[in-house]
Amino acid sequence: MASDGGFKTAVAAAWDSGARLLPRSPALTVLYFHAVTAEHGRAFEAQIAYLKRTSSIVSAAYEGPLDTLRPNVAVTFDDAFRSVRDHALPVLIEHNIPVTVFVPTGWTGREPAWSRHDKWDGGEVVMSLAELAALPPNLVTLGSHSVDHLHLSRLTDEAIEDQLARSRATLEGALGRPVDLLSLPYGDYDKRVVELAVRVGYRFVFSDRPQMLRQGGKGPLRGRTAVDPTDDLRTFALKSRGAFAWMPAAVRVKAVLNGELQALSPGWRWQQRYH
Ligand SMILES: [Zn+2]
Repeated sequence: MASDGGFKTAVAAAWDSGARLLPRSPALTVLYFHAVTAEHGRAFEAQIAYLKRTSSIVSAAYEGPLDTLRPNVAVTFDDAFRSVRDHALPVLIEHNIPVTVFVPTGWTGREPAWSRHDKWDGGEVVMSLAELAALPPNLVTLGSHSVDHLHLSRLTDEAIEDQLARSRATLEGALGRPVDLLSLPYGDYDKRVVELAVRVGYRFVFSDRPQMLRQGGKGPLRGRTAVDPTDDLRTFALKSRGAFAWMPAAVRVKAVLNGELQALSPGWRWQQRYH
């Protein structure tokens, strides 16, 4: 029996070959990374070189016309780890690639508590505000990843508003420029969280649900596809072409086939492996 990753890649490959045969309207796929360790620097560089060769790369908040011939891709990073500055940024600068980095402002300059049990992020440190302010503003857009990196849907309205408004104010104070993008910790949200984010002044709210964003698409929510330097190039290529946008539905079907009947309930929600 194929591993879960093998299952996903196989179905994505089938989707991708089918989609290439059919005319389709252009779409934008927003990718998100977390850490890029020294060990995986080369693999990351190969992924970025692949995007540069094959795709039209835009910023995550891009709203203009999309490329009709090549995949449209945006690159984002959650958690603002120092390893991204050290091992990813030089590659991104070399290829002139715009990126968005989402900052949990309550953890700047520190190793976050939530990463300690995570095999990908162990030992990672969030950049300090001074380090963030020193990143090149022409390529790096900074967004909020809340203050404390909590599950926002579990908080009261007042606490959600505080997390969203305070992180935004901290970043705007440190950078001296407006901040209007938000990424949801753990991809966790409900209708209330999105409404409060809009009320606080966010233009786009990025989730962890893979999605192909169509041109002229409405609404503040933008789905993203999780990527990692440890993804092999074939899987990474499929993800960048939007082939994983089928995943929430396919994972649900697979769960039902595996006898997980709670996946049939209306409240069942796609759960991402990463945060
Ligand atoms: Zn995070």
